[in-house]
Amino acid sequence: MIDGRTQLVGLLGWPVEHSLSPIMHNAAFEALGLNWRYVPLPVCPGQLDAAVRGLAALGFHGANVTVPHKEAVLPLLNAIGMHAEQAGAVNMLIISQTSQGKPSIGGYNTDYQGFLSALRAGSVDLEQLREVVIAGAGGAARAAVLGLLWSSQADITVLNRNPERAQALVTGLGREPGHIDRMQAVPLTSKALVEAARAADLLVNATSVGMWPLVEYSIWPDRAPFPDHLTVFDMVYNPLETRLCQQARQAGSRAIDGLGMLVEQGAIAFEMWIDAPAPRQVMRSACERALRRQACCDS
Ligand code: NAP
Repeated sequence: MIDGRTQLVGLLGWPVEHSLSPIMHNAAFEALGLNWRYVPLPVCPGQLDAAVRGLAALGFHGANVTVPHKEAVLPLLNAIGMHAEQAGAVNMLIISQTSQGKPSIGGYNTDYQGFLSALRAGSVDLEQLREVVIAGAGGAARAAVLGLLWSSQADITVLNRNPERAQALVTGLGREPGHIDRMQAVPLTSKALVEAARAADLLVNATSVGMWPLVEYSIWPDRAPFPDHLTVFDMVYNPLETRLCQQARQAGSRAIDGLGMLVEQGAIAFEMWIDAPAPRQVMRSACERALRRQACCDS
């Protein structure tokens, strides 16, 4: 029941109607018997400033931030967490009051922790990684590259359809000593991807290729055999079993879906808002049910 004591958090994005986050967080609030609600908040690009100030005025405790606002939100914040600052992207906000009673909005990045946790849960030994290939150069790719720069010794090839964006990512994240020598930017073509993956241990899809409704697409070309030594991490979680995951599994390779990362980044945000352990299994099951329902409706 929503009443005068209901506490609010939400999701700022455009569009937001297909997001699993409201389902995942509301299932967690319900499981813990908390009078909190998580609401989708569609905010078109020109309205982000007003929306962020509005959240504070309306007494929201926080929000997640998704495409296309993860970078644009940075200048609107009173405080930025170290990882968000380095990633140049924020995916969650905490709204608190200063001692003068004014709202203070802090921005954090839980995507990179979600990515690393999902890799570990998929039995990837980060310390053993030598070469990683990342397709994509958006906010999700930045989080992955940062996580790998900090937590592994791997060399990283970033391939992107727009090569300038890949180069900007590498240059931007290469400022720490030793980091620039571990990265290279390459235009994303089928040939370049297959070539880069030949000697890699891990291939990360951080593009939206394969995402519902265009589920028949994959960054990996059909005619190229999939290397059986290569682990795939597909950040796309809708559908759970993407075409890329299928290609990897059919070749006998390990494939990790994007839902573990979604749940983990959500669980970390949840814990920062309510200061109690998140019920991760409840959150995952709620997402799986929603994805199954959607798959049924589509077929
Ligand atoms: P973003 O900033 O909008 O970046 C999108 C990326 O996809 C860019 O690199 C873009 O390349 C590439 N791309 C889009 N369409 C493409 C196509 N047809 N062919 C080749 N490349 C294409 O989005 P993001 O936040 O980084 O998210 C990327 C993906 O990760 C999405 O599918 C998102 O759902 C997923 N994600 C998952 C999680 C999770 O928790 N599992 C978290 C964050 C994101 P250009 O630069 O050339 O346009």
